Amino acid sequence: MSAVMTEQGFGRNILIVDDEPVQRESLKQMIELSGYQVETAGSGEEAIAMLQNYSFDLLLLDLNMPGMGGFGVIDYVVQNAVPSKVVVVSGDANFETAKEALIKGAYDFVKKPYAPDELLATIGNAASKKELEDANLTIRQKLSESEYLHRFIVDHSPDIVFMLDTDGRFTFLNDTVYQTLGYNKNELIGQHYTKIVSSQSKDQAKYVFTERRTDDRKSNNVELKLKCRGESEYRYFDTTSMAVMLEQSKQLNGSYQGTYGVARDVTEKKRAQELIRFQAYHDLLTKLPNRALMEDRLSIAITQARRNDQSLAVMFLDLDRFKWVNDTMGHTMGDRLLQAVAQRLENTLRKGDTLARFGGDEFALILPQIKHRSDATIIAEKVLGELKDPFKIDEHELYVSGSIGIAVYPEAGQSMEALIQSADMAMYCVKDRGKNGFEFYNEAMNEISTARLTIERDLRKALANGDLRVCYQPQVNASTEQIVGFEALVRWEHAVNGMIFPDEFIPVAEETGLILDVGNYVLETACRDLAAWRAEGVEKIRVSINFSAPQVEQDDFIERIVDTLRRHNLPGDCLEVEITENIIMNDMSQVIQKLRKLTALGIKIAIDDFGTGYSSLSYLQQFPINTLKIDKSFVGSIHVNEGGTSIVDAIVAMAQGLKLNLIAEGVETDPQLEYLKGLGCAEIQGWLFGKAESAETTGQILDRIRHGGCIRGEAVA
Ligand code: C2E
Ligand code: MG
Ligand code: MG
Repeated sequence: MSAVMTEQGFGRNILIVDDEPVQRESLKQMIELSGYQVETAGSGEEAIAMLQNYSFDLLLLDLNMPGMGGFGVIDYVVQNAVPSKVVVVSGDANFETAKEALIKGAYDFVKKPYAPDELLATIGNAASKKELEDANLTIRQKLSESEYLHRFIVDHSPDIVFMLDTDGRFTFLNDTVYQTLGYNKNELIGQHYTKIVSSQSKDQAKYVFTERRTDDRKSNNVELKLKCRGESEYRYFDTTSMAVMLEQSKQLNGSYQGTYGVARDVTEKKRAQELIRFQAYHDLLTKLPNRALMEDRLSIAITQARRNDQSLAVMFLDLDRFKWVNDTMGHTMGDRLLQAVAQRLENTLRKGDTLARFGGDEFALILPQIKHRSDATIIAEKVLGELKDPFKIDEHELYVSGSIGIAVYPEAGQSMEALIQSADMAMYCVKDRGKNGFEFYNEAMNEISTARLTIERDLRKALANGDLRVCYQPQVNASTEQIVGFEALVRWEHAVNGMIFPDEFIPVAEETGLILDVGNYVLETACRDLAAWRAEGVEKIRVSINFSAPQVEQDDFIERIVDTLRRHNLPGDCLEVEITENIIMNDMSQVIQKLRKLTALGIKIAIDDFGTGYSSLSYLQQFPINTLKIDKSFVGSIHVNEGGTSIVDAIVAMAQGLKLNLIAEGVETDPQLEYLKGLGCAEIQGWLFGKAESAETTGQILDRIRHGGCIRGEAVA
């Protein structure tokens, strides 16, 4: 078999079918001379066998053959759609035979004996016809391939591709509608587009899905919110659509067949954008609006208030002692506390109010359209009330309180900046006053805040220049009136303003951190002075030193005390540490540990200003405390004749129940002394026995007493 009979069939190849060998060969030679490639078969059967395996462009077929004749071959060709042209070459010149062959499917008929030219012309004609048909077939094949390609591209498009009829019903959808929205496309075909459009997108969808324009004005990048199957979820799509016009004219008056469009799922991008926008305007920890959003809302609220001649309030809330929680219990605990606080505060909001986190432990509230100041008062009280109960975080019970500054528009400022500054100032005033409360801004605060800055600056200088002094106020045994100790009280000898008392600068020192330097100075000085008196022969005298919260919070709080005592060769029991209830309540477990270490060294612990804080005795029981100092405000309220002294009575009774030592401070009169003695109060501190005096004066008093003098004689007249 030659190469021409391969299936690929390159060149034009012809099969001659004739039972007459001479006929076959002469025909073969003649045709080959014309450039065709020729094979031969001697019978119908042989021809069919060859057709089964190879393809031929042309069959030159004899009709009269023994066995299967030429008609049998034609039938085979037709029935099996063999793509070969059949030219009958027959000595049977009968018209009927020729007609029958043509009807059966032969292409042409040549009568034997043939004129070679005529035969070759017929062959050429049939060959070119076949060539034409083949070419058409290829085009058809190619056409369906490209249609397949189109379908492939459309179905694998990351975008939904859709067509709608003139009524807005889907006539086509690609598979992407399943991947993005979950619908099987057949569920939607025939459905109106509104089935998948969210109510927010109804209006835009109307234009996109019934787009009747094809030109530049067609719908482009329109964002639609579409419903997922099941309708509980939505996704966002960038949609582009245009009209399908029957005439390929760009004119609007072409005949409208429906709308074609693509919808790109931009949900992830949109959500990322939303997150970025949220992050830009919210505090991620508490999810509250941040400063930027708060300022936006405030400026809108101011504009509205101005237009409608209304008031509004801005509140600043600073959590007292939050920094301490953060520093000592770790940031995670601090963060959780802030979240818990934010959540509680949200309960106090009315519709239209804004609660924002300003940073750190500062929150801001905008109350638009308040009618009276009292509206703001109510909210401020509510906020403070919300903070009262302890925050339970893990096994910890954390107590916080808040300082609130309130600025009311327009009195406290006409601009956003002015209002914020006023609220801030008012908040600092609350902090100065001892925290946990609220205050409306007033003009005097401006001066106060300037004064604060001045104090801070001057106090730094005072520390550097050594302008601080420590004075000592005696504490006496109530019945023997013997001196049992002194309280060390700091003073500031200001070059211009004279003596400044601690109430004026300790709060500023605490806020600015300068208290650490002040405290170290007092501890060092008091120990040095006590050591000097002991060297003179004074025994059994202790010194009480006040410690502020930032000092107790220091990691080296204990070490510093121990080191100072050691350097001055002082035993632990000659020192009493005075702290306030609030220091303890803020973090019990930490403070308990530190206090235990102190008592183990013989150092005494006194609770100063007892009764003014917010501790309860049941808590105090857990602490290694030696002494309660009854605050002078309660002592001052002793008016013996009126008998209205229930608080002092109660404190004394409680202290005795807990077996604690009691010192009453601020005792100025004999009746007060007698009353306290009557109750069984063991120690007394107050002007009745002496004010705080310099180390030098105190040394002289001690000296006189050692030589038989009496403390009463030293008391100021
Ligand atoms: P405190 O610890 O309660 O001290 C008692 C205050 O009451 C002292 O005021 C004292 O001078 C005053 N006082 C004593 N007896 C009487 C009296 O009979 N009548 C009246 N009206 N007042 C009396 P001072 O020295 O102005 O101190 C005020 C506060 O400053 C102290 O209250 C204490 O909390 C704080 N402080 C004083 N020195 C220090 C210090 O070195 N470190 C710290 N952290 N705080 C200090
Ligand atoms: Mg004190
Ligand atoms: Mg006190």
